[in-house]
Amino acid sequence: MESRKRFLVEARAIARLHHPNVVTVFRAGEIDERPYFVSEYVPGRPLSALWVSEVMLQQTRVGSVGPYFERFIARFPDVHALAVASIDEVLGAWSGLGYYRRARALHEAANQIVVRFGGRVPSSLPDLLSLAGVGPYTASAIASIAFGVPAAVVDGNVSRVVARLFDIRTPINDGKTKAEIARHASRLLDEAAPGAFNEAMMDLGAVVCTPRAPSCLMCPASAWCAAFHGGRQESLPVTPARRVVPRVEYAAFVAACEGRLLLARRRSRGLFGGMWEPIMLMGEASDAKRSAVVRGLAAPRWLDRGAVEHVLTHRVLEVRVFAASLRHATTPSIEHLPSDYEATAWCTQGEAATRGLSVLARKVITCAAGTRQVDRRRLPVHERDGS
Ligand code: SF4
Repeated sequence: MESRKRFLVEARAIARLHHPNVVTVFRAGEIDERPYFVSEYVPGRPLSALWVSEVMLQQTRVGSVGPYFERFIARFPDVHALAVASIDEVLGAWSGLGYYRRARALHEAANQIVVRFGGRVPSSLPDLLSLAGVGPYTASAIASIAFGVPAAVVDGNVSRVVARLFDIRTPINDGKTKAEIARHASRLLDEAAPGAFNEAMMDLGAVVCTPRAPSCLMCPASAWCAAFHGGRQESLPVTPARRVVPRVEYAAFVAACEGRLLLARRRSRGLFGGMWEPIMLMGEASDAKRSAVVRGLAAPRWLDRGAVEHVLTHRVLEVRVFAASLRHATTPSIEHLPSDYEATAWCTQGEAATRGLSVLARKVITCAAGTRQVDRRRLPVHERDGS
């Protein structure tokens, strides 16, 4: 027990020393002492700020989350404000952070919290797990840190630390390996201080037990780390071979008229669900769908502005960008658009910024304006300017 307490103190101290921002985002509400999202269960705890930061931290690095977190909680200072906001407002505040289904789930969960829990973030694991977008990781983090529930958090950082501590040599994405890591994490957990323990483990993984070149000589767990003693810390955890990520072609049509852009909103399910963007079609830019869209917009001339690339975890999108100035702000009827879209609107630049625009949509708009370097060699001759 004594060594575990020392580990807690040392792991957090080392993490803070080397990367103070690691804990700043994680506990931003607490540090700021703002009066929002305060739970009656644990007075003074910025519970929903913790919830928002945990959801943002899913699949996103701490360093990227900070500004978005600040902006988001400034815009939606409590659960009620988030619940009554429109999904466009929520996606607008989330815009640029990626994985937009998290924002939609957060909005849905805020409504669930208002309706089912009187606006207070629940404290039990089953209630937390019943909220939209809250999985075992987020539920355990909130329950342990805010309510002292003895639930071990297992994220990518913790998995790596545990795999090394216990010299686990099976692939880390294997179901049995995950169960073994979860068992070890639960056994290690300090039930008297589960939140502090979980934060220590996550901080340790983020700044000391890093994927490459872990700092074993300064690690508070080195005395009982099996991988370190066996000299295998660099080769663990065992990760599966990288898959070849497929490339998918799109064509984007950026129509402008008197200072406004035509944007379309994607349906809520699927890639970039609920986000606004210039009309994009999957597949070759010269197919029949493109012809229908181009006819519907009645542009006198489409300029090929080049291509942008957007890398997602499971595919790479290669988007050819076409731009046109329309004489009239005509809107193609929704039946002529791909079934991915549910609405269209002409927006000024300011209006577009307040709607949820994905990073890809921003890249496409920038490319259409001609301010982005494009790879024109990849485009067939007949698709170049004015064709
Ligand atoms: S000793 Fe090295 S490998 Fe083991 S937990 Fe610490 S940093 Fe990670």
